Parts: sequence; C-alpha cells; structure tokens
Amino acid sequence: MSVRNVFWGALAFLLAASMAWAGVAGNQKSGADALAMLKEGNARFVAGKAVHPRAASDRLAATTSGQHPFATVLTCSDSRVPPEILFDQGVGDLFVVRVAGNVIGQDVQASIEYGVEHLHTPLLLILGHTHCGAVTAAVQAAEAEGAIPALLWKIQPAARWAKAHGEGDVVERAIERNVQLSLQEIQFASPVTRTLMEQGKLKAVGAIYDLASGKVRWLNF
Ligand SMILES: [Zn+2]
Repeated sequence: MSVRNVFWGALAFLLAASMAWAGVAGNQKSGADALAMLKEGNARFVAGKAVHPRAASDRLAATTSGQHPFATVLTCSDSRVPPEILFDQGVGDLFVVRVAGNVIGQDVQASIEYGVEHLHTPLLLILGHTHCGAVTAAVQAAEAEGAIPALLWKIQPAARWAKAHGEGDVVERAIERNVQLSLQEIQFASPVTRTLMEQGKLKAVGAIYDLASGKVRWLNF
C-alpha cells in the first residue's frame, strides 16, 4: 500500500468515526431520526435483544464535559417505566423529566425547556403508561394527603374527559387523554417550546408504555 493510500484510508476512517460520533449527538439529528432511534430501541427491548448502547463506563469520558441527548422525555415516576431501559439507550442519550402522572408544572416545564432549547433535543416525548397509579387515583377521586391532591388536580381534566367520552376502561382513556393534555399544555404554557415546533426544530409526540408487554404504543392526536 502506498503512502498516499494509507493517507486516504486514514482520512476516510477519521471521517467515518466523526460521522458516527455526530450520529450520537442530539443536535445533529432530526426529530424523525430521534423517533426512529426510540422505536428501534424499544423493539430490541421487547424482543429481548437489548444491546445497552453507550452504557459502559467508557461512555463516561465522552459525556463528562457535556451532554448531547437526542430526546427530551417526560414520563411518570413509576419504577416500572425506566426510559433508558425500555428504549435501550445509554448514558447521555435521553434528557428525562419524571413526575407522577407525567403532568406539566412549572419545574417540569422549565426542565423540558432546558432539554429542547438549551440542549437542542429535536424530539420531545410525553410518555404515559398502563396501570398508572396517579391517573387511577384521579379517576377514582381518591383521598390523598400532603401535596398529592394538588398533583391529582392536574390530572382531573383527563379523568373528567374519560368519564364523559368513549367506552371500555375509563382509566386507559384517561391515561391517553392525560398524555394529550400534557402535550397541549407544554405548547400553550411554553412559548419557547411552541416556537421550536413551529420552526420545525422540534417534533413533539405522545405514547403509552404497556407495563405487561414492554411495548410503546405511539399516539396520533
Ligand atoms: Zn404512573
């Protein structure tokens, strides 16, 4: 091999390596790319073929000085809904905001804004889940103490809507409606988020995670 060929070979390798790295950086991706990565990761998880990408200790050096997550995810605090595991993603991939019932409050809104505006994630996902205790409590108007009633109050619009519309499991309908209302509320309450969506820089989607199957069902509102 000539010196010249070695040079071009090395250059091609460096280019490929840098492109692969860019592929991991959130702000290099489109919302559709990011959504595809989540769908592929969930398919691996459901099939028992999770590869746990970017989850070993060597990933720490690549993320210590900064983060480039490709998706902002708001989901419930439920211990059975771990986003990095169910989407088979690694350290630094997802900017996750968790609160019981995945409702929008000021702190949650601020965290989402940090993800979509400051970290430039091209995707915002609101992820509800089956058998959600917070939504169930809101539907049943359960008595609660401390600050919990204030949280359940945020879920009440979804619970009321579910009772007035449709047939079958009222909690399931409320869970889906609650995701839809959180998506609407973040756009209404956060001009920053709304503007990014209008500019085509942010794709916002909703989904329901099924605790039994491990599958994520993507919603079309
Ligand atoms: Zn829940």
